[in-house]
Amino acid sequence: MMQGKKGLIVGVANEHSIAWGCAQAVHQAGGELALTYLNEKARPYVEPLATSIHAPVFMPLDVTNPAQAEALFAEIKQCWGRLDFLLHAVAFAPKADLHGRFTDSSGEGFSTAMDISCHSLVRLAKAAEPLMTEGGSILTMSYYGSEKVVPGYGMMGPVKAALEASVRYLAAELAPRGIRVNALSPGPIKTRAASGLAHFDALVQKATDEAPLHQVTTIEEVGNAAAFLLSNNARHVLGQVIYVDGGYNIMG
Ligand code: NAD
Repeated sequence: MMQGKKGLIVGVANEHSIAWGCAQAVHQAGGELALTYLNEKARPYVEPLATSIHAPVFMPLDVTNPAQAEALFAEIKQCWGRLDFLLHAVAFAPKADLHGRFTDSSGEGFSTAMDISCHSLVRLAKAAEPLMTEGGSILTMSYYGSEKVVPGYGMMGPVKAALEASVRYLAAELAPRGIRVNALSPGPIKTRAASGLAHFDALVQKATDEAPLHQVTTIEEVGNAAAFLLSNNARHVLGQVIYVDGGYNIMG
């Protein structure tokens, strides 16, 4: 499905990351991957994963650092001459703002969360656009808290709502270049980012109890859906937010 396709995956922190589930699925489908790591602290966790899938590009990327992004895309151009897909699986909100009421959140915390979790997608899409010479597919990760109030998700709910709207605007603007933009919305999965949320275990339990499938969402299942959306098989799918949650979101 992904034979000959070359793509960039941003957001692998360790083997539990949703981005890693996606990387494995795309790799198994024949895709070639560039991987990034946040900083030197994160590198030892990500490097063995990059090595295991023979990633020809493995570079640091903090999305708040424009010089790192510039160097990364220059290296991708040098290595492949083009890019077929981009996966953005990045989110951050300062703890103090995430744990309190949204009502009490600071402007600074909100700006940081929006910049790292939402506008970074816009910046990466802009950098990828000139390299997607044969069209392309861009995918990001959202969550149900964008649509409904999920206790404990706080500030990230409005941020994910902005991310989903950004997907639609990017999809409309980039479609003439053959570039599709979509989001997946996985059910709760125990990852590093999720461990920062209050009462996360209860969220997983609720999702499992109430989803029609009654199964915990896994990074493998998210990866399977990602591989489809990143492939040409999804060439008429754009601007969508597709749930991978065992049907939790359809229940009243
Ligand atoms: P994770 O901790 O494995 O991944 C989050 C990633 O964001 C990490 O790789 C981290 O390095 C990266 N990141 C944070 N700040 C960054 C920065 N400044 N520059 C570059 N990268 C940065 O957790 P995850 O759950 O796999 O999260 C991936 C995405 O999936 C996030 O957007 C998250 O909101 C979304 N998501 C997660 C769940 C869940 O339950 N785990 C559910 C729905 C959506």
